[in-house]
Amino acid sequence: MHERAFVLAPAAEIAADWHHPLRNKTIRELLAALPSQQCAVNGMRVFISARDAQLEIMRLRTERRSLGLVPTMGALHDGHLSLVRLAREQSDIVVASIFVNPTQFAPHEDLGQYPRNLDADLQALAAAQCDIVLAPSAAEMYPAGFSTYVEPPAVAAPLEGACRPGHFRGVATVVLKLFHLVPADRAYFGQKDYQQLLVIRHMVRDLAVPVEIVPCPIVREADGLAMSSRNRYLSPHQRQQARALSRALDAAERLVKSGERDARRIVGQMRDALAGAGMERIDYVVLADPESLVEKSSLDGPAVALIAAHVGNTRLIDNRLLNT
Ligand code: AMP
Repeated sequence: MHERAFVLAPAAEIAADWHHPLRNKTIRELLAALPSQQCAVNGMRVFISARDAQLEIMRLRTERRSLGLVPTMGALHDGHLSLVRLAREQSDIVVASIFVNPTQFAPHEDLGQYPRNLDADLQALAAAQCDIVLAPSAAEMYPAGFSTYVEPPAVAAPLEGACRPGHFRGVATVVLKLFHLVPADRAYFGQKDYQQLLVIRHMVRDLAVPVEIVPCPIVREADGLAMSSRNRYLSPHQRQQARALSRALDAAERLVKSGERDARRIVGQMRDALAGAGMERIDYVVLADPESLVEKSSLDGPAVALIAAHVGNTRLIDNRLLNT
């Protein structure tokens, strides 16, 4: 049984008083209005101040309760919530972070338009029995004069690293900072971002960060499309086209099951599936070693198929582990 005894006095007062001036404020307005920049949503504590969250989490750790961290950029969907649910099963205290990290976006990318909906996110996290949310400001995460970055491991170089220079430097830096702010026993990452998961695992190994990285399976829509915050950019027509990514992965899986071992032929069929759906801008379609991401020409052991392709202005990624 996990304890859910966290209700902050100001939020409890607001909840009890229908005429309280902050009663009908949005959560963001409430957080801005409260002197300590904390509030509670159905018993879940929300911190805007990373420093306050860090102090509280360090205090909780002295009580020897296990802690699970789920880092996110918000605009939450069931994929994110599956990570929270697994953390809930495995940890006494579940902490989720919501931070759209500017350093992992290139200047031409979608930082400005990235979907943000703190109120809905907090309601969803409270419903998934998250205990603590950290939603820090960019100004606190990157204070004036910030100049220390993590040089990401070698596995960050190909694929996403080649298409999005600097992306994993930003990811590794913010994730290491989150690990310091929220010293967790376990941290949960989706296999949807397969290369990111490897980057984090290698960073944790190389820098001896005392956290266990728990990989979580990809959650898909009924028609196979991997859930993503960016799916909401898609028009109904593009949403149909986007199904081609998971179909291409299905084709790869079928071919491998039927005995095909020539990576070029498998990649060729995957590309055909994407082109057949009208996808013209394909960043990569590869079969690679699941640990190093070195590209494979023949499937002599386990492999991962990875795709990045554009549907209109939206860039989508997907992947599948293939067992030979
Ligand atoms: P993001 O908010 O996109 O940075 O994602 C936060 C975490 O949720 C990352 O570890 C993602 O890999 C994970 N995630 C996102 N989409 C999915 C999905 N469809 N299935 C499983 N995990 C996901």
